[in-house]
Amino acid sequence: MPTQKQAWYSYDIKVYHAILLSMLYQCAATVKAKEEVAPFIYRFVFTLKDPPLISFTPGQYILLQIPDGFRQYSISSAPSESTRIETMVDVTPMGPGSRYLLQLKEGGVVNFRAPIGVFTLKENHRPKILLATGTGIAPLKSMILHIAQQQPVPDLYLFWGLRRKKDVYFTSLWSEINAKHPNFSYHICLSRERMDEPHYFNGHMQECITSSITPEVAAQADWYLCGRPIVVESLVTFIQQQYTVPKDRFFHEKYT
Ligand SMILES: Cc1cc2nc3c(=O)[nH]c(=O)nc-3n(C[C@H](O)[C@H](O)[C@H](O)COP(=O)(O)OP(=O)(O)OC[C@H]3O[C@@H](n4cnc5c(N)ncnc54)[C@H](O)[C@@H]3O)c2cc1C
Repeated sequence: MPTQKQAWYSYDIKVYHAILLSMLYQCAATVKAKEEVAPFIYRFVFTLKDPPLISFTPGQYILLQIPDGFRQYSISSAPSESTRIETMVDVTPMGPGSRYLLQLKEGGVVNFRAPIGVFTLKENHRPKILLATGTGIAPLKSMILHIAQQQPVPDLYLFWGLRRKKDVYFTSLWSEINAKHPNFSYHICLSRERMDEPHYFNGHMQECITSSITPEVAAQADWYLCGRPIVVESLVTFIQQQYTVPKDRFFHEKYT
């Protein structure tokens, strides 16, 4: 039996959630594209029907309605593409959310609430260091696309941790952005396979970060991290041990 304090706390949380949900857009959208871009990783594009447009800040996510509730998925498209939303979905949890998304077909209708989240891009001229594992790349891609449309583009470093070459996608996008904006650099860190090609690093992200980021850049930069909680936490600890970075320069989203 909850104490009176716990009961009030739980009531407050429910009220907070109800208020939050009522403040979000309730969106109906059509599945424009669904493709498996790597094993168990699907790219979805949803074209908005009602409302026809949405505005969001890079880094935010949607609450996708599924038969038994909601699941969170980060928006990977740029805010300038306001009539569509792209998400990158890892279906390995294979719970109700994954199963719902797997059975969707192009032309089908989805409902979601959006935009939500405080893991948002801070508009400033600091260098930005973006660290992702797996589909944690999604909100960072939205940030990169948004930053690439700005003038001047601040120094931007992407480190993306995956297991093997077959898990990698978006390589032509990174290479296009790098060709246009040489101050965008990207490092794909493969933990379980060796790749002797430019932009690939063999090993864990930690070693790749220390071999690419100087203490001066680390101290000036904003650090954005996204992925599984244990990885995000261990990366923050590692960075704090290696460099002097004020705590308020870390921004992260943990995929629970
Ligand atoms: C803010 C936020 C944004 C997110 N954005 C994304 C996104 O853009 N793309 C994305 O793919 N996911 C994202 N996630 C994670 C996603 O919402 C969860 O993985 C979701 O719970 C999956 O729903 P499900 O019903 O398939 O599995 P659930 O029934 O919710 O979970 C099933 C079980 O699988 C476990 N599990 C979770 N992840 C994994 C995994 N990777 N491998 C194996 N087991 C796992 C869970 O702990 C649980 O026990 C986000 C999470 C948060 C909090």
